[in-house]
Amino acid sequence: MSIWANVAAPDSEVRAVEDVVIVGSGPAGYTAALYAGRAAFRPLVVEGLAPGGLLQTTELVENFPGYPQGVLGPALMADLRAQAERFGTRFLTRLVDRVAFATAAGAPHRLWADGREIAARAVILAMGAAPRTLGVPGERELGGGRGVAYCAVCEAPLYAGRDTIVIGGGDSAMEEALGLARHARSVVLVHRRAAFAASPIMRERVLASAKIRVLTPYVVEGFVAGDDGKLGATRVRRVTDGASEIIASAGAFVAIGHTPSSTLVRGVVETDARGYIVCRPGSRETNVPGVFACGDLVDARYRQAVTAAASGCEAALDAQRYLETH
Ligand code: NDP
Repeated sequence: MSIWANVAAPDSEVRAVEDVVIVGSGPAGYTAALYAGRAAFRPLVVEGLAPGGLLQTTELVENFPGYPQGVLGPALMADLRAQAERFGTRFLTRLVDRVAFATAAGAPHRLWADGREIAARAVILAMGAAPRTLGVPGERELGGGRGVAYCAVCEAPLYAGRDTIVIGGGDSAMEEALGLARHARSVVLVHRRAAFAASPIMRERVLASAKIRVLTPYVVEGFVAGDDGKLGATRVRRVTDGASEIIASAGAFVAIGHTPSSTLVRGVVETDARGYIVCRPGSRETNVPGVFACGDLVDARYRQAVTAAASGCEAALDAQRYLETH
């Protein structure tokens, strides 16, 4: 059972006009809430229907500072949430489905969460990004700590001495393969085209690694469970002649890009061609006064829990400055 079954409280009281509403509940959203709470703004976090963000689906997190033995993803999120709550944060376990942002500085913004209207002087967007999935058989069943994963940087040491596979042809896939090669017994990199989207330097490093076998052009047909119910093998198919191959794999890392969860604010807040929210250089301000953005929603590159938390802090400090001057 999800830990959230225990903490999901009835809706907190919503004030006529909130100072700060934070949309999203990953490390960025909860850290923004912690900072806004300690600045005495009593923030309201609209945390969605599956609070905790991507870390909620991760097992052991070993690269979040402060946990020398590592921490389970859901436990880390519960800690971040509790820390924000301690300083007056309130929560709504609802999904924001519509926004109407004011264009004049100081005017309240409006949001609707499952039909409930909320007005806020400042809004911090922290909806994150979702890894793209392959949509092949076994991917969903063998996810959530059973072998199919989306972040090798996070989990590579767990596959020390094991056989692994990486899917993708961009810089992320190269980085995942190189990171895994330091720990795993073998790494097979599977990409659907013969040419890589990755930068030449990353591609050359991969091709130079004795531990990484490159399979192109191949596509993944499915993931197969072993006797223990965890991932045992990956079935791939050569694009040129349709020949199938089974590759023994204890870990499979899908690195085919991310999609920022910015649909809610497309056309309202400036986004780049890929949908990431654009902030003013050196700040977390968007092009709409009083609306700030942080975490994976603005970051195509680092996408780490600790970098998301840091940008949540920055967004809250920027929002605080805005609230104090408007
Ligand atoms: P990219 O969009 O660059 O690459 C995605 C890769 O996945 C492409 O090779 C694409 O194939 C493949 N792909 C997409 N969909 C599918 C699918 N359904 N099935 C199979 N393969 C698929 O994403 P990345 O996450 O790699 O990188 C995002 C950005 O972050 C880039 O700008 C990158 O440079 C940057 N980055 C930089 C790093 C660094 O500098 N160290 C590290 C990581 C990321 P195809 O080529 O055929 O379209």
